[in-house]
Amino acid sequence: MRKRFPAEVYVEGIRRGDRLVLSRAITLVESRLPADAALAQEVLSALLPCTGKSLRVGVTGVPGVGKSTFLEVLGHHLTERGHRLAILTIDPSSRRSGGSILGDKTRMETLANNPHAYIRPSPTGDSLGGVSRKTREVMLLCEAAGFDLIVVETVGVGQSETAVRELVDCFLLLLLAGAGDELQGVKRGIMEMADVLTVTKADGPNQDAAQLARLELQHALHLFPLPASGWTPTVTVCSALEERGITDVWAQVEAFAQHTQQNGWFARNRREQNRYWLHETLRQTLLDRFYQHPHIRALLPDLENAVAEGHTAVPEAAKKLLEGYGNT
Ligand code: GDP
Repeated sequence: MRKRFPAEVYVEGIRRGDRLVLSRAITLVESRLPADAALAQEVLSALLPCTGKSLRVGVTGVPGVGKSTFLEVLGHHLTERGHRLAILTIDPSSRRSGGSILGDKTRMETLANNPHAYIRPSPTGDSLGGVSRKTREVMLLCEAAGFDLIVVETVGVGQSETAVRELVDCFLLLLLAGAGDELQGVKRGIMEMADVLTVTKADGPNQDAAQLARLELQHALHLFPLPASGWTPTVTVCSALEERGITDVWAQVEAFAQHTQQNGWFARNRREQNRYWLHETLRQTLLDRFYQHPHIRALLPDLENAVAEGHTAVPEAAKKLLEGYGNT
């Protein structure tokens, strides 16, 4: 059995920046056991005043776009400049295999050995919201442990970005050149969310295509309405393999942060995110309670079948369940 410590052991250890304690606290936060949840909340509440001081950046792009290679190069660059960087990875597809992402630690092997960087894959969860809610709490723990830059890496498959957008200050999208109009079309929604965009693998025979893609993307962006942040992104090209353009991408991230801190959007966005997470937490807590309720567990299978077979109308079945829940 995993050993639990009193809350102050986690709190003090994290404040000291003790990685072992941080990892244990993350495991606690990720746990689904009710006893762990209560302790985790105690730890998080005690650490709240030490959180919120980092820059939170979401990094996304389709598998193979070069996220981990990019982050590895960027990570060393940032730590050399005195930053402490935590990278949290979310891969919703890993839910299908039922485990956390095995490859991730080795994916950023040299960065994982960097004493100023911390890489942590997100656990699998029942829902995307659940995964990112835990990621948010993990992010807060990392902030309290003194990491001033938090990167949340996600696979650009569409749904995860929306949840991650609610976690971060700045959203960085990595794109491939020549991925075709159809793909860029799919990406429109994500492109609209992005604050910084870069075309990866701009090296060797790819260079011209990357420049062309950059121009096309920049053009497409000008057709979008001005985002609430008041910032129009500039598209860059980069090569992680040749270590070119990576610092330019980060310069864009910093420029975005500065711009939005000055115009007030940065603080406003965080306040709105806090509200969002309150409602998200309420929604999920209520749903969990509902589905775990003995009365619902007893009624649900039959009503589900009745609905599936068309014997009972959906609203009627829902009403029965809700009434049953409300009366007990
Ligand atoms: P991820 O799935 O988005 O994390 O992508 P990876 O970082 O694992 O990279 C996918 C593949 O692209 C790997 O084979 C990398 O070696 C390659 N790759 C990554 N960055 C570059 C780059 O800047 N230039 C080139 N030519 N290949 C790259």
